[in-house]
Amino acid sequence: MTDLDPDEFRRLGHAVVDWVAAYRAGLPDRPVRPAVTPGQVRAGLPDLLPEHPQPLHTLLETVDHVVTPATLAWQHPGFYGYFPANAALASLLGDLLSGGLGSQGMLWSTSPAGTEVEQALLDGLAGALGLDPGFTFAGGGGGTIADSASSAALVALLAALHRSSDPEGSSTSRWRDEGVDGHERVYVTAETHSSLAKAARVAGLGGRALRVVDPGPGGVIAPDALAALLRADVAAGLRPVLVCPTVGTTGTGAVDPVRAVAGVAREHGAWVHVDAAWAGVAALCPEHRGLLDGVELVDSFCTDAHKWLLTAFDASLLWVRDARTLPAALSITPEYLRNAASDSGAVVDFRDWQVSLGRRFRALKLWTVLHTHGLEGLRSHIRGHVALAAGLADRVAAEPGFALAAPPSLALVCLRCDTGDPDADDRATRALLAAVNASGRAFLTHTVVDGRYAIRVAIGGVTTGAADVDALWDLLRRCAGWVAEQAVASDDVSGAPRHGSQL
Ligand code: PLP
Repeated sequence: MTDLDPDEFRRLGHAVVDWVAAYRAGLPDRPVRPAVTPGQVRAGLPDLLPEHPQPLHTLLETVDHVVTPATLAWQHPGFYGYFPANAALASLLGDLLSGGLGSQGMLWSTSPAGTEVEQALLDGLAGALGLDPGFTFAGGGGGTIADSASSAALVALLAALHRSSDPEGSSTSRWRDEGVDGHERVYVTAETHSSLAKAARVAGLGGRALRVVDPGPGGVIAPDALAALLRADVAAGLRPVLVCPTVGTTGTGAVDPVRAVAGVAREHGAWVHVDAAWAGVAALCPEHRGLLDGVELVDSFCTDAHKWLLTAFDASLLWVRDARTLPAALSITPEYLRNAASDSGAVVDFRDWQVSLGRRFRALKLWTVLHTHGLEGLRSHIRGHVALAAGLADRVAAEPGFALAAPPSLALVCLRCDTGDPDADDRATRALLAAVNASGRAFLTHTVVDGRYAIRVAIGGVTTGAADVDALWDLLRRCAGWVAEQAVASDDVSGAPRHGSQL
């Protein structure tokens, strides 16, 4: 046998679990961002293609000495960049179970349990989020676990293209036979995630298909501007295919007015896809349900469990109101995939809800998280971070030399330096960001709000708590003081205080 003997697997598996446990426990003592230069990792790697079997401990040594020191520590309690990708330990156990089963869930018949656990979980979560029952399988819709919100947007767009070229719902459409004709249009804002532009490109629509709707107050979609653009496009013979409002934009966490957008889009038969990749899971808490106002009117809704719902990448949750739409656009059945269960029409084949054929049993990972923490645990995880963000925003607003760059949204706070001179603010804010990141104590990323540079603090790490956010605030103030003292004019912070120094 070429595989590990099961007893050997057990022994090595314990060693790997011990390694992960020690890594996670030791994270607070490590810098969040590694001091690494391009090429350093490759130069430190041993021969990766050994001719003869090697013991596991030598691999773990290389991970310790070469990989870990060159890894941005996304699970560090001081990680506030992008949107955190919190990977709770429970979800790693679920992933291990899934890999252990090693099933391939392209069809119901290739993984009946994989398919039905996923259906049951997504139906349950639809209820827990307060989604309209029309998004459940029992209600004629249904949900699936995609690898990413980007893939979810792509399949939503493909379903929208199919529907727009086949409004009567026959089994074939012009789009499927002839492809796009250049008249398709997709409506976004300047704040929409770039995955929508990528989806349009992948679908062959080209950049001209993207319509950027003028923003209203707060930078969110202005429904009147959307309505005017749609009317003008239809009058010009163009075809509005999809409109994408965002619930929780990547830059500032802003929320587009979904209800009004859906009303306008539906007048022209356009598909409405809500991208709530980060913020959507907050609707588990009744006090945040308002985020989903109007979602009952849309065609598809996506939120990532792998950002803020404790589930290790990848697990993006996508619901559609009409379960027929994705298979109608994506199903292609060669002889070798034919089987009685699919032919019966009584089962869901998730290969028809995604681009790739094969798929993992991701539901087991999500299920393990839900089982371990319960909905109440997930709600308190979210509530804890929202409260920490509110506290941080209050401190920023009250501190001379700092300003909020946008209203805080859930667990996201955008801030900048406030010197009284916009150009100097931008320079100081850039330098502040660079100094914080160089310290190794915390990791932050940036955005631009109304043309001005801003630092984003996205609270969401599995272990990020009050003491960490207190330490971050202290670090921000000290670094801002250092920046002001040095009058740093660029992001050259080579002299900034480092991890382990007096900061
Ligand atoms: N949509 C929004 C609003 C996001 O913030 C992000 C990522 O941060 C994405 C989509 C893309 O997410 P994914 O990595 O799951 O494709």
